[in-house]
Amino acid sequence: MSGLSRLVKTLLGALLLSACLTAWSATTETAAAPETVSLVVVGDIMLEDGPSRAMRRGQDPFAGFAALFKGADIRVGNLECVVATIGSPEDDKPNVFRVPPSTLRYVKRHFDAVGLANNHSGDYGPQAFAQMLGFLKQAGLGVYGGGLNLTEAHTPWIVERKGLRIALLGYDEFQPRSFEADTDKPGVAWSEDAQVVRDIQAARSRWKADVVIPIMHWGWEDPVSNARQRQLARTMIDAGADAVIGGHPHQVQDTERYQGKPIFYSLGNFVFDGFSQPVNNRGWVLRLELDKNGVRGVQVHVAQIGAGGLPKPAGTVAGP
Ligand SMILES: [Zn+2]
Repeated sequence: MSGLSRLVKTLLGALLLSACLTAWSATTETAAAPETVSLVVVGDIMLEDGPSRAMRRGQDPFAGFAALFKGADIRVGNLECVVATIGSPEDDKPNVFRVPPSTLRYVKRHFDAVGLANNHSGDYGPQAFAQMLGFLKQAGLGVYGGGLNLTEAHTPWIVERKGLRIALLGYDEFQPRSFEADTDKPGVAWSEDAQVVRDIQAARSRWKADVVIPIMHWGWEDPVSNARQRQLARTMIDAGADAVIGGHPHQVQDTERYQGKPIFYSLGNFVFDGFSQPVNNRGWVLRLELDKNGVRGVQVHVAQIGAGGLPKPAGTVAGP
């Protein structure tokens, strides 16, 4: 073999080796890249009135956001009505909402779990609340913020995707407090600070969650959060929450980051009929990217609520 051909052979060998090494390192980098889990959270879902009429016509009230739901690993929202066939309306309560179990066909199509900690899930009494828990279980839907008793109501909904364990807790602090669960009474979880802190700590220690997110029902019908919301959000993050997400004010509220963790004080309405003011017909849908360190990415999608209370996507806005 001539000196020249030996040199060519050596060079070719080196090139081949470096190509192999590049390919190998590219593969390992891809495999080592941390995968995120996407969680979509919508605001308040009230299925009476317009949405009920739509479902009776065979129309899916969530259809406008079907693509966003389909593309996410986990989908949740606050169910602000009773799903039951029994019970009687609470005395002296101006607005009470109840829908039949057939509506869950549409909820199940798009959601993995629903939050029950709100000021309407108890509108038809504890028996109707318990019946709703049964219907949700039958439909294969998870629940947070409510249960057959106090312990269940304060137990997180645990969901695992791609090896990441996520705990969602739900709390109501908007009256009536009579909807609260008790040792032997079905109902919602109420947000007493010391209990909330214990629940968040238990989500990590007992339930081995990597990510813990409390979803709140709180605040006044104002565009800006109040002092109580801000205090409790900080308390929850200090206790180990990775984000805090709220609802109830029927409009979007301000956001912030505390200790680097995002706080959305109110997402506003998602599916809700009966509001004439534009501010009440515009809500937020969050898509959070989660990993073992908490929230890695935030996308805020705008839901424009049209006639009959049905939402359609209307672009995105910047998150905190
Ligand atoms: Zn509410």
